[in-house]
Amino acid sequence: MTPKDRVDAVLAGLEGIRTDLEEVYKDFHAHPELGHQEHRTAGRVAERLRSCGYQVHEGIDGTGVVGVLANGEGPTVLLRADMDALPVAEETGLPYASTAEVTDPGGRRVPVAHACGHDMHMTCLLGATHLMAATPAAWQGTLVALFQPAEEPGDGADRMLADGLTAMIPRPDVAFAQHVLPYPAGQVGTRAGSFLSAADNLRITVYGRGAHGSAPQAAIDPVVIASMIVVRLQTIVSREVAATQPVVVTVGSVRAGTSGNVIPESAELLVNVRTFDDGTRQMVLAAVRRIVRAECEASGASRAPRIEEGTRFPPTVNDDAVTRDVSAAFSETFAERAVTIELQSASEDFSRIPDAFGTPYTYWALGCVDPDTYQAARRRGTVTQEIPVNHSPRFAPVLQPTLDTGVQTLVTAALTRLAKPDHVSP
Ligand code: ZN
Ligand code: ZN
Repeated sequence: MTPKDRVDAVLAGLEGIRTDLEEVYKDFHAHPELGHQEHRTAGRVAERLRSCGYQVHEGIDGTGVVGVLANGEGPTVLLRADMDALPVAEETGLPYASTAEVTDPGGRRVPVAHACGHDMHMTCLLGATHLMAATPAAWQGTLVALFQPAEEPGDGADRMLADGLTAMIPRPDVAFAQHVLPYPAGQVGTRAGSFLSAADNLRITVYGRGAHGSAPQAAIDPVVIASMIVVRLQTIVSREVAATQPVVVTVGSVRAGTSGNVIPESAELLVNVRTFDDGTRQMVLAAVRRIVRAECEASGASRAPRIEEGTRFPPTVNDDAVTRDVSAAFSETFAERAVTIELQSASEDFSRIPDAFGTPYTYWALGCVDPDTYQAARRRGTVTQEIPVNHSPRFAPVLQPTLDTGVQTLVTAALTRLAKPDHVSP
């Protein structure tokens, strides 16, 4: 059996489960749950894994699920899917669109939708786990299917680890994950090395001295301090970072004051920083702190600013050798639909799991836009304006060939390692 024969043998069963998988997807899509609340979802996942013969660990930090299938001596491969949805009101118009509302961690009623495609990731992984379990003669080793809660808030992977994940499952030799992105469906994008950025969120409060709007001489105006900070922060990317180094610094929120004739006491800024390597990250974060402190001092602020660190995502850096093997296998399975993809300024917490085991990994992009729609927009030069991206209320992965492709990728990648020993190439 060549590697391609082995992939074909496992994927031969896909046609027989396609309709069932499409129903599973629609069910997940119509019943989204926010991070750490994925109880219904986790229940469905666990039930399916168990019915295929996986040993199932449930309730990891509440809603995490891991299925382990041991199939003789050999390497251990971990496949990961995330499970959570977003507080977004779906506007896709799909017959299986979400109309759900839930209570968020702050106690507010919010709409909820699978606007990032995690429902697709889960369905693909359930398809792959089913097919692998159904064809044990085609491979050898241990398959670990990990369904992770709360990727969006950024703490799902960490909290599974804190709840003892490393002691629960065998150490994986390699780990894989995928994400739907707005590229043509059927296309698969790999990239060695840096793929997704690290993200740091900062909440910055600057303090002035409040006074009547008519008497600025009696005040230290925090609105002016905050404004100077917003402008000066732009110089980090334009003046301090090399043109070849991708970095994003965004001030997403500025809040101060309540009235035109009152100079407030303080102002608050929410800052988001995206970087691709730790050296640059440290440099940019230090520059943000330096600028904030210096602007406060320049204005004679009443006290030092408060800089609080919020959610943080690690960078996703794909292992070169693992990515080379997976890309080669994808080229066999998908021919010209396997492409190299550009750096993405999005972030993920997946890498915390392989990092905790010291395991190399690769993470790839799964196209999910109707190919004709995509090509038409491309011809008009309007892809970014016309094609809804992840987190948009109109983000709607086309069911096929996205789902088929996402099952094929996972099986193909897993089989790069789960070969029978006598078939391992020298
Ligand atoms: Zn997302
Ligand atoms: Zn996502």
